[in-house]
Amino acid sequence: MDQVERAEGYAEHTDQYVDGAWRPALDAGTIPVLDPATERLLATVPAGGAADVDAAVAAARRAARAWGATTAAERLVPLTRLRDGLAAHQEEIAATVVAELGSPIGFATAVHAALPLAVTESYLALLADYVFEERVGNSVVHAEPAGVVAAITPWNYPLHQIVAKVVPALAAGCPVVLKPAEDTPLVARLFARLVDAAGFPAGVFNLVTGTGAVAGAALVGHPEVDVVSFTGSTAVGRTVGETAGRAIKRVALELGGKSANVVLPGADLARAVNVNLANVCANSGQACNAWTRLLVHRDRYEEAVELAAKAAEKYAPGDPTDPQTRLGPLVSDRQRERVRGHIAGALAQGARLVAGGAEAPDGLATGFYVRPTVLADVTGDMAIAQEEVFGPVLVVLAYEDEDHAAELANATEYGLAAAVWAEDADTAARFARRLDAGQVDINGGRFNPVAPFGGYKKSGLGRELGRHGMEEFLQYKSLQY
Ligand code: NAD
Repeated sequence: MDQVERAEGYAEHTDQYVDGAWRPALDAGTIPVLDPATERLLATVPAGGAADVDAAVAAARRAARAWGATTAAERLVPLTRLRDGLAAHQEEIAATVVAELGSPIGFATAVHAALPLAVTESYLALLADYVFEERVGNSVVHAEPAGVVAAITPWNYPLHQIVAKVVPALAAGCPVVLKPAEDTPLVARLFARLVDAAGFPAGVFNLVTGTGAVAGAALVGHPEVDVVSFTGSTAVGRTVGETAGRAIKRVALELGGKSANVVLPGADLARAVNVNLANVCANSGQACNAWTRLLVHRDRYEEAVELAAKAAEKYAPGDPTDPQTRLGPLVSDRQRERVRGHIAGALAQGARLVAGGAEAPDGLATGFYVRPTVLADVTGDMAIAQEEVFGPVLVVLAYEDEDHAAELANATEYGLAAAVWAEDADTAARFARRLDAGQVDINGGRFNPVAPFGGYKKSGLGRELGRHGMEEFLQYKSLQY
């Protein structure tokens, strides 16, 4: 690490947020945080271990009963101050995500900073009206908090993933221990500062930075954790689910995806393809729900491939701090090498390169950049049609008829999202009902931050966002009269 140049403002953080205060980390070790555009060292944060996790979980446990006994109106007070803090720090949030994730500043402002604010707002509205008690026959059913929550989040939408777990958990009356991703702990620390300023009771929210293998595993396996809410890869999700299952802990898993964008005959092909490129280049393709497979009828296949190659030209990689940039670097060297390996593997299996490629983009020798890449002549059995790439890479597949399109769209182990384009919304919606996916965008329908978000098949268990997201943190008690 010594040879890595330090960025301006380099900081060595040595504390964790536990039991209502920033406290010196108990475990030794640090994690370096790099700027993926400059490869400079932004900061180091503590690599928490069993001692930090124990302290955080113990604090959450001590806070659980009193926080769980508060009324919705009482919880709304600090939650509203947290919303205000998020609103007042939009610029700092965006700048932090630009620095540690490499997200272009425009996208960081519009999505990485604004979406968590919108999600927090949505929970204030939900909590204000939510009925935690209902009469069912001769019973009164109480929705009670499900207990101490371990929230484990990835780096790709770092604050959104945190807010999508922590805010509904707190709204439900659960205390939380958050373990954010190693690559993006700085926005998590900023979030902890805002929680601190919002005045929640001590122990209701705790932050432990650390690696997944050490801090993450200690948290999932901790006997005092009642609920594990995990977002990350399917491989890690499987071990998290196993550990939780053995201990009979509630578990929610938001995992990977390989989402299909199906363009039915009669749809506006140019629009569907252009929106697809925007979608797959957003966040450098590092989105679990990215439309990474474009499915087009074979009669219009070559036309679609040409449109896709042309659209890719609009996403020249560049400096994420420049407001003109639409495509920044990937988060890390490791991630870049994974994506390059996927591209090279696809070419070796017979895919045709029509845009981009595995080589570094011209003039960008520094930074973890990958060219926006379009691969044609891809068939459903190729690895590139099955495996999650997590980069700006689109594959184009041909289908024979609608049945074949549905079969191809469903022929991966994943089932997170999809998109359907047709001449009218009813036709698209009819087709959407045949897809094994938790979310389907109809003719370019917008992301809805209160609609349930989550996967079919190996894309996960449970749902985030909106009412469904909060109910993951509730359990039910029936009183019979
Ligand atoms: P990852 O699975 O490597 O890590 C995710 C988190 O889990 C990190 O905080 C990591 O430290 C932690 N972790 C790693 N090993 C662990 C272990 N053994 N026990 C407990 N925690 C552990 O994933 P990543 O590379 O950070 O993120 C990318 C993945 O996340 C992609 O597969 C993507 O599809 C998925 N993702 C899914 C959604 C969704 O909502 N479905 C959203 C965003 C990202």
